[in-house]
Amino acid sequence: MSTLHTADPARTDGGCGTLYLCATPIGNLGDITARVLQTLAGVDLIAAEDTRNTRKLLTHFDIHTPLTSYHEHNRTEKAQELIARLQDGADIALVTDAGTPAISDPGEVLVDLCHEAAIPVTSLPGPCALVTALSLSGLSCRRFVFEGFLPGREDKKLRRTILDALRDEPRTVILYEAPHHLRALLDDLVAALGGERRLALCRELTKRFEEVQRMTLAGAAAYYETAEPRGEYVLVIEALGFEALAERERADWQEMSIAEHVAYYESQGLDRKEAMKRAAADRGIPKREVYKALL
Ligand code: SAM
Repeated sequence: MSTLHTADPARTDGGCGTLYLCATPIGNLGDITARVLQTLAGVDLIAAEDTRNTRKLLTHFDIHTPLTSYHEHNRTEKAQELIARLQDGADIALVTDAGTPAISDPGEVLVDLCHEAAIPVTSLPGPCALVTALSLSGLSCRRFVFEGFLPGREDKKLRRTILDALRDEPRTVILYEAPHHLRALLDDLVAALGGERRLALCRELTKRFEEVQRMTLAGAAAYYETAEPRGEYVLVIEALGFEALAERERADWQEMSIAEHVAYYESQGLDRKEAMKRAAADRGIPKREVYKALL
């Protein structure tokens, strides 16, 4: 295929083909890019998460490139097969059900293997649910953290650990969720983060019934007690403000005595004077109060 170039045309790849990561629409077919269409039509093979879905997309655009499946359940063996084809010189496009390959789907395994095998990989950017939701949320986009899907409730311990970490997260948090798990997720978020935290619940992005519900976590949990969750969701959750974070840290320190607090810093290698200074700052009290408490 001569019309498409890799990310680094100067690189010598020993006759390997290229893996093209092709972003596809997350709901609106008009969002496919010209470069993705040209690539899908020009490669030797398209590896797709769900070949039936992708066939519909290809038929719509009158593209007849051969398809093969690459999904969560065959990714280990299939990745080896695709690597062998790439090493034989085939150009392959990777597409997932929707959006950008490797974002919360099995693409990352194949990309990693290609880099390890020095096979050229390039990304053709386009739709991605997390970026679409974040930009639409009206919440701070300056710093954010993407958690994708949380582990399910059956993986209780890991889910709890991540939820606890999100409690004090000072960046906007983005989560993916399927409709049948939305209620459980909202309940667990209220329990871990408190009901007052603001949320932009983005559903059916780029589709006819696109909706952004801006509410508190408690408001969303209450709303979906009666409303049936429908469609695909991205949750964009407001960060804990720095003031609230400082307040929470102060409250955490209050759970130990001043002596324990100073001893903690000494155990971390600080000398007594520095440990007392830090303890005073953490608790938002003057240094002399720490001195007094230790006398
Ligand atoms: N690779 C995709 C991307 O770039 O966003 C994500 C794939 S992940 C398996 C699917 C999840 O993305 C859905 O459960 C939902 O949380 C989110 N999602 C995908 N399309 C969406 C849409 N149109 N509206 C809202 N969320 C969407």
